[in-house]
Amino acid sequence: MSVESDYHRIRSPVLRDWIHSGNEKGSETYTPVGILACQRDPLLRQLDATVVASVVSSPPAPAKGKNAKKAVLAPTIPQGAVCLEVLLNDTVIFPEGGGQPSDTGIITTQDGTVWNVLQAKRHGGQAIHYVRVHDGNVDSALQKFSPGAQVKVELDQAGFDRRYDHMTLHTSQHLLSALLETRLNLPTLSWSLTSYPSPCYVEIPRGMTVQEISMIQEEANRFVFEGRKIHVEVEELAAENRKPVEKTETGRAIGRGLPEDYTGGVNRVVIIDGVDRNPCCGTHLPSLNNLQIFILPHTDALSRSSTTVARLNFLTGPRLIAHLASSHNHLTSTAAILSCGTPQVPERVQQVVDDRKSGTKRIEDVELELAKYIAADLSQDVQGTDGLFKKHVHRTDDSATALTFLTAISSAFSDALNKSGTEAPYLIVLSSSPSAQLPTNTNVVFILGSDDKRVKEVGDALKSKLGVKGGGKGLKWSGKFVGIWKNGKDDLLVEEILNSVV
Ligand SMILES: [Zn+2]
Repeated sequence: MSVESDYHRIRSPVLRDWIHSGNEKGSETYTPVGILACQRDPLLRQLDATVVASVVSSPPAPAKGKNAKKAVLAPTIPQGAVCLEVLLNDTVIFPEGGGQPSDTGIITTQDGTVWNVLQAKRHGGQAIHYVRVHDGNVDSALQKFSPGAQVKVELDQAGFDRRYDHMTLHTSQHLLSALLETRLNLPTLSWSLTSYPSPCYVEIPRGMTVQEISMIQEEANRFVFEGRKIHVEVEELAAENRKPVEKTETGRAIGRGLPEDYTGGVNRVVIIDGVDRNPCCGTHLPSLNNLQIFILPHTDALSRSSTTVARLNFLTGPRLIAHLASSHNHLTSTAAILSCGTPQVPERVQQVVDDRKSGTKRIEDVELELAKYIAADLSQDVQGTDGLFKKHVHRTDDSATALTFLTAISSAFSDALNKSGTEAPYLIVLSSSPSAQLPTNTNVVFILGSDDKRVKEVGDALKSKLGVKGGGKGLKWSGKFVGIWKNGKDDLLVEEILNSVV
């Protein structure tokens, strides 16, 4: 492949000597990160290459504490996987950098064996491939990857799909950040190429209005429709190019500078014609064609220790289509449930919520009325009884708030008894269970009496004999148990307990 093109422009002639590609003899020198084949031509999917070095990879250190949780799901090496760390003279597999995660791909050795590259990482200026040794035969693998061996390195379909998704979002981020900076004076503090299919985001120093978001989106898509070209300029990295990272007034870093451990010696700038110049090592598409951007029309406020920032989420390319497809599915399936067209969904959902609210209110009112009738009957029975009145009332009730209803009966009963002026002694157990006979049922019990000792005695008995968990104070006691309320058995047990009280 050519080392220079309209896309890849070399500004320092010395860089031409740094590029080593192909299988020819004497090509066992590596091309530094910054001018790799994947960076010179982002659409290149395969390349003949020569092994420069290979070693057995030591297992990665276990992730540390809280910081290990990241929005970006980098391809990981499975626990216990045996890998070789392979350095090639050049590669189409991009090692992670500039916020863009590592590619995955395959390498075919001369004997025709296909090896999976689980990830690639930048070590100083070298792109290191983590090649999985499936059969665990490290010696044989090292032999096939011995220095000078000729291989083919490739982005397979899954690897290319993954890369294409990353490129569409990374290039869109450059466009978006450039517009935020130049149109609204909003620097991009950081950005995240989140895992597929979540929206990606940029972090900015303040929230944006819906009008600002729509203005930026419109302008970004105008450049997309124009199909603005993108190219890369590389030159030798001189000391003066290693500028410190700028900071906001509150001390927050703006973007990323060159990584301190980068030793590739290449200064690389990505240019969107007439829009942006940005130092970056990522793989970027050659034009804005097809990169229509959708920005979620709100910003999320994030509170950090010293500064407040806002997050702006955006989508483009295959991820935008996946987002539209899944949103559409959610909407149409909701519309089907509501038997209406999709534009009517918000109105119908509001109606369902309102109906439910008024339905709940109505049930509460009716329950209160019913509680008064049940209480009135009980109160009359108490007044017509000589000595201690004892009774168990069981109800079948599928309400999630069955205990509230039993409490309502108890209150209404106290009111009715107070009104009647009687002071006859009583001991009543109210219980309630759902209609379906399920072991996951929650059954509730409420005890009320005219004497706290008797109430406690019945409560303790229900605990020990029926497994009820609960407690009470004074003249009231409530509890519940999970399981099936057995008619004809549990009822009798409650009767027995009541009968034993004197
Ligand atoms: Zn970038």
